[in-house]
Amino acid sequence: MVAERHPRFVPAKPRQGRHLQGSPAVPIAASQNQVCPRQSALDNPKVPRQFPASKTMWQERKKRFAPLPPDWKRLIQVLCPFYNRLPEPDRRELEDRSRVFLAEKHFEGCDELAITDEIRVGVAATACLLLLHRGLVGYPGLRTILVYPSSYFAPTTQPLGAGVLEESWQARAGESWQAGVVVLAWDEVCRGARHPETGNVVLHEFAHQLDYEDGGDANGIPALGNGDSFVTRRRRHAAWVAVMRAEYEQLRAAVTAGQPGFLRAYGATNPAEFFAVATEVFFGDPVELQRQHPALYAELQWFYRQDPAQWLR
Ligand SMILES: [Zn+2]
Repeated sequence: MVAERHPRFVPAKPRQGRHLQGSPAVPIAASQNQVCPRQSALDNPKVPRQFPASKTMWQERKKRFAPLPPDWKRLIQVLCPFYNRLPEPDRRELEDRSRVFLAEKHFEGCDELAITDEIRVGVAATACLLLLHRGLVGYPGLRTILVYPSSYFAPTTQPLGAGVLEESWQARAGESWQAGVVVLAWDEVCRGARHPETGNVVLHEFAHQLDYEDGGDANGIPALGNGDSFVTRRRRHAAWVAVMRAEYEQLRAAVTAGQPGFLRAYGATNPAEFFAVATEVFFGDPVELQRQHPALYAELQWFYRQDPAQWLR
């Protein structure tokens, strides 16, 4: 089974590809790295099942692991730009989340990159920002984080029509696999830490992991209202779908018209990418997102149970 992946591209000239003449036409949904196979999910929404982890499980789990060493707290301050904006109780929760994440997840360097505490702590703290206040066990399906020293190339195919496929190489900043793997380029992680208002690949890829948690599919609709009644979840789900569909279609129209807007054009790729890009902006440039897209901000504020715009006021 081919795992679904959601790569995050970087602007770079791909290596020269070649055309496969006469190959069978491949529907976009069958390819690994472009339009989400579940692009129609916003048009045919179903209330996802509840994610089974509970707040009690999280409270019990964090007791099993040692406190975060002081040196690692300093690394969080440097490598997670959001830490210093957080209220004090949230900083403590982020530290707890990070130490559990670091104890449970495996890091592996690629292209001879040596995994350091800096890499592990920087990634963990930023990834765990998405878990605050949500009472859940973090990323239960995720096992491994692969880290490249810099943007890497991965093979890709694009259907050209008439049964023709183009094979090429694509520069990537990261990707998120349904099969429990996140891939990151360390230089892009550092760039996102220095300039979170321009995007953050860690937030992007881990938003995809949240998107997988409601049953394995990334479709821009993560598990909503965990712990709430079915009636409440159905209502919240309807509100989420309505807002996300409107915002996504608005971005698609702007991109088609060649009118760059506040949200990055990559979010127009499919609903899953829209959710990931919106997550980056929600934390990276929250005041402007709230000003320009108040309904989108409100949905994300409800989902993440955080108000990043308030941190900056
Ligand atoms: Zn993505």
